[in-house]
Amino acid sequence: MRAYYCDHHAIPLPEGHPFPLGKYAALRQALLSQGVLAAHQLRPAQPAPLPAVLAVHGRAYVTALLEGRLDTAALRRLGFPWSRAFVRRALASAGGTLCATRAALQEGIAGNLAGGTHHAHADFGSGYCALNDLAIAARWALGSGAVERVLILDLDVHQGDGTAALFASEERVFTCSLHGTRNFPARKAASDLDVGLPDGSGDEDYLAALEEALERALERARPELVLYQGGVDPLASDRLGRLALSPEGLARRDEYALSRLRSDGLPVVLTLGGGYSDPIELSVAAHLTTWRIASQLAGRPADPGPSDNARPWRPRTASGTPSAGSSTGAEPTSRPTQRDAR
Ligand SMILES: [Zn+2]
Repeated sequence: MRAYYCDHHAIPLPEGHPFPLGKYAALRQALLSQGVLAAHQLRPAQPAPLPAVLAVHGRAYVTALLEGRLDTAALRRLGFPWSRAFVRRALASAGGTLCATRAALQEGIAGNLAGGTHHAHADFGSGYCALNDLAIAARWALGSGAVERVLILDLDVHQGDGTAALFASEERVFTCSLHGTRNFPARKAASDLDVGLPDGSGDEDYLAALEEALERALERARPELVLYQGGVDPLASDRLGRLALSPEGLARRDEYALSRLRSDGLPVVLTLGGGYSDPIELSVAAHLTTWRIASQLAGRPADPGPSDNARPWRPRTASGTPSAGSSTGAEPTSRPTQRDAR
């Protein structure tokens, strides 16, 4: 199982900024120290190529983002001050999901230790999301001919409004969002399937809703690829969540959903999504659990213990996987020399 990271692009944030920048590097470190992934499985994300970005976002917005010409209102909506490092990281975050998509199509499951930036719309960023990596990867997968239908399963506690809006008229992409109904964004977009949960929903209500939603989504979407937004902000400990899942309940979410998808032989791309627990270590631990479950499903855990459900992925078709010479998401050929860089 391959995982792509971009936390080595440090971005300057003002004192007291609420974005949990440290959780990304902390997660990568924990994956290594806990033996969930080995160093050779972790790779620095390459920046998303401009054509792949422009297949989703408007040229005027992308140019303003790249050149630091977003106005104050646009930056306030995005939630970050502009810097060159921020642009590098945003492109790498989207590129990580592209790289992981290619890897998942080859190996069955792969992921990005960032991304899931589902509030980014075609012409503006919002809620800490500058570029919509899920949409960029889905467009690329369709455009490359690798797949004909994509399911974006968004389990972050916030609705995937940007993704829903971007694919409102794209029949080949099915968007499914399970979220807190009273949470951000106040104005929801229409996904193909939205499930809004009331404040304070706990494990059992959440899992029952997930099971029903996932079955409906699979039936309607008939996907050949699944992009998984595994935000851990449904946790009761989350500052922004408003739901009340326990860490065990959240683990059951990932165990159920990822096992279900893999039992259908579907390639799955993990993206990180939100997580704002207090303390933030609770979010890191929850993300770690998601990756532990995925790593075990990949059938090649870094710690070679017994695994009942370890089955190698079998491609559904012989053709259709992206070629090594594809124009987007170029695979890095060198390994990181400073894996602990922050
Ligand atoms: Zn969220």
